[in-house]
Amino acid sequence: MVFGSGDPDADLMFIGEGPGAEEDRQGLPFVGPAGELLGKIIGAIGLRREQVYIANIVKCRPPGNRDPLPDEVKACRGYLERQIDLVRPRAIVALGRVAAQTLLESELPLGRLRGRWHSVRGVAVRATYHPAALLRNASWKRPTWEDMKVVRAHLDDA
Ligand code: URA
Repeated sequence: MVFGSGDPDADLMFIGEGPGAEEDRQGLPFVGPAGELLGKIIGAIGLRREQVYIANIVKCRPPGNRDPLPDEVKACRGYLERQIDLVRPRAIVALGRVAAQTLLESELPLGRLRGRWHSVRGVAVRATYHPAALLRNASWKRPTWEDMKVVRAHLDDA
């Protein structure tokens, strides 16, 4: 099981989809190649990994990296909500379509969920591309950076 990592008092929380192979091995979220890029994204807004909180929609690795099934999402939802309630971040970044749609309980495509603020359990949520998607398609890096600048400004706006 991969529960989460980082500062339980963090101002910023990232939520991914679910653990991959390397995360499953180490028991920590975002420690594989996508995690390395997430570390750079966090660094680009002037933070260190240890200063944010990182979790996933599902806490166990879906076999073969398939999308989590509805009952798996449902089984983990209470844990995720409790994580959000305990950390009480000032903002959440949902990484990728699955995380965004699940967290926001929406079926809109990621392109429609990006670019505006949402609210989940009283916390401001922004959706952006998943770092694994950025590794496949570098043209999504620019819009991701635009999203992260908005998040940074929100955190600065204390
Ligand atoms: N992708 C995710 O969505 N979460 C992880 O923890 C690793 C890769």
